[in-house]
Amino acid sequence: MNRAIECLNNRIDKLRAERASALRNLQQVCEHTSLAECDYQKSVMTDGGALPPLRVCLECGMSEEGWGPGYVVLRGAAASISRNELYDKRAGFLIWDRHKGPLLRREVTIGQLIANSEAV
Ligand SMILES: [Zn+2]
Repeated sequence: MNRAIECLNNRIDKLRAERASALRNLQQVCEHTSLAECDYQKSVMTDGGALPPLRVCLECGMSEEGWGPGYVVLRGAAASISRNELYDKRAGFLIWDRHKGPLLRREVTIGQLIANSEAV
């Protein structure tokens, strides 16, 4: 690989890691008071399938699926936006439906889930 490109790739990798760390730190302390959501969407890829309703925190980028018990972390009033707008605003941790049972049973905290998540 060209040396200049390799140096740039190394800097990009370092910045991505710094960004992921900053997002994890922010999302563990954010109070998630500014929310937006989009409704579920029928999938064109699977017969009868659908994409879940989603919410995003406009302050920290955390997002949450709305199936199952509903929203567990990103609760409260939310402005309605399109799915594409929501995808543009989300970053960092996504709360899947599989996280909600352990959260509701207090077997794990959202901070623990975020701390153990993969870099984004
Ligand atoms: Zn937030």
